[in-house]
Amino acid sequence: MSPLLPWLREPLERLLATQRGHAVLLSGPEGIGQFELALALAQAWLCESNGSLTPCGECASCRLVHAHTHPDLLVLLPEALRAGLGWETAEAGDSESRASKTKPSREIKVDALREAVAFAQQTSSRGRAKVVLVFPADRMNAIAANTLLKTLEEPPGQARFVLGTGAPQALLPTIRSRCQTVRLAPPQRPAAEAWLAQQGVADAAVLLAAAGQQPLTALELSRQGIDARLWQGLPQQVARGQGAAFSGWTPPLLLDTLQKLCHDALCVAVGAPTRYFDAAAFAGLHPSHERLTEWARELRETARHADHPWNAGLMTEALVTQARRALHSPR
Ligand SMILES: [Zn+2]
Repeated sequence: MSPLLPWLREPLERLLATQRGHAVLLSGPEGIGQFELALALAQAWLCESNGSLTPCGECASCRLVHAHTHPDLLVLLPEALRAGLGWETAEAGDSESRASKTKPSREIKVDALREAVAFAQQTSSRGRAKVVLVFPADRMNAIAANTLLKTLEEPPGQARFVLGTGAPQALLPTIRSRCQTVRLAPPQRPAAEAWLAQQGVADAAVLLAAAGQQPLTALELSRQGIDARLWQGLPQQVARGQGAAFSGWTPPLLLDTLQKLCHDALCVAVGAPTRYFDAAAFAGLHPSHERLTEWARELRETARHADHPWNAGLMTEALVTQARRALHSPR
């Protein structure tokens, strides 16, 4: 079994000590282990060892959770996230969309919620609880969320729910009000950097900043071949209109990166500390504040359609051209 991420132990203990009711909503950045914490909470609810508050990791129930075969745990994830979260199941492996070669869905569909409602009403197989985990909960569309709502309002006796989201404001207020909301903050920098170093990430501090202090996101960046040198070089490359560094990047990663670059360029322009890049990466660039604000608006507009099936090459070219103009505007 993989051990719990070190910075999640304290929040898990606090959660178990203060938790009331049958539904918990974890909010905060997703890339700090929100799914892992939700899963650990579900595991604690189902754990059959009486000795410890946190899941023992050894009892039959904990083993079933790790094997993804616990009969009283239902995990709802968008298909597109399963592999990344290490939650590939036999069903997902030969799912319809795989067979038909369509893009894996980024939504949690209403059918999955119907299944969850029926599941919650069943008697617990092992006698502890019936646990439904939904992540990210904001990926339920309105119909799917409404399907869940009734069960959240009048939960069957043994049902428990844990939802996770990086965008709680995107949930139906009625869903939020049925849950105990627990906010999860990014870990302390030294703990996150030490963990990244253990995972073999060089320049952990730079990548952690690049990821907005979210260690799992930083690890993801590193696995995509992004290192400190490449990252810090991006502002100058973009200012020269060179998009080569972005080859092979997905449109969402590219957009997210340009939004961070734009954010930090604005910080530099007004003399504020940067957040994602070292300020030195912007040396010699003197874009106007107005032009950067305009660029930020253009990026937000593009991000709104981020699920659009872009031609990645054309999109990169257009975005880099836009970025070059913004960064090169005279002050
Ligand atoms: Zn256990």
